[in-house]
Amino acid sequence: MKLNAGAIQAIVFDYGNTLVEFGKRQIGVCDMAIADVLERLFGPLDREALRTVRDRDRMAPYMGDPPSYRENDLRVITSNLVRTLYGREVSEAELAEIVRVRLETFVEATEATVEVLALLERLHARRRLGVLSNYPDGDAIRRSLRKTGLARHLDAVVMSGDIGFSKPHPLPFATILRELDLPPEQVLFVGDNWLADIQGAKRAGMPVVHTVQWTPYEVFERNPSDLEPDAVIGKLEELESWL
Ligand SMILES: [Mg+2]
Repeated sequence: MKLNAGAIQAIVFDYGNTLVEFGKRQIGVCDMAIADVLERLFGPLDREALRTVRDRDRMAPYMGDPPSYRENDLRVITSNLVRTLYGREVSEAELAEIVRVRLETFVEATEATVEVLALLERLHARRRLGVLSNYPDGDAIRRSLRKTGLARHLDAVVMSGDIGFSKPHPLPFATILRELDLPPEQVLFVGDNWLADIQGAKRAGMPVVHTVQWTPYEVFERNPSDLEPDAVIGKLEELESWL
């Protein structure tokens, strides 16, 4: 174990599949709600085609050589979704309705366990806590953090959608370090995504714990030059034994 617990002043968590489960089941619920609103507005839908577009959109920030890590614009990808599936342009009112359903379903699908809430309460007694999440809409994450009860334990919240770039781009990490006003070596990062979280936070100079409690939806191949996390945990509560 390479972690120097005494030096850690703050802990920053990824959100989906780190603090709350967001795997196949939750994504399925969101896909279903989007399919329903599309069918209500435009008629029968090829649900397999919807899944293909959604998977492609989810991976878009990581694509390209080199990848831009540009976060998706929800309005743009939603307009493109309708164009691809129905061959038509959305009106402003239709676009607003689809985006509303997307965000509302996301907020509803996120739930925090009593164990995670209790853990954050204990950790927060001794250290500052933050969330750094890749999601196109920052307000939806903030609503979700309030709904789950996690918000009251957080001192800093940064979303890719607010700054235009996704982890592992350096900007999201620099932004939360600035908000916490701490150097990277004093901020422990905890995340599930090998590329976005583990590589992103290690490159930013932070100590990193890789949580494998839930299975991430997106899988990234490991490269020989990748940086290793400082610890791997199978359950978030194991964090306490490292601190
Ligand atoms: Mg995650």
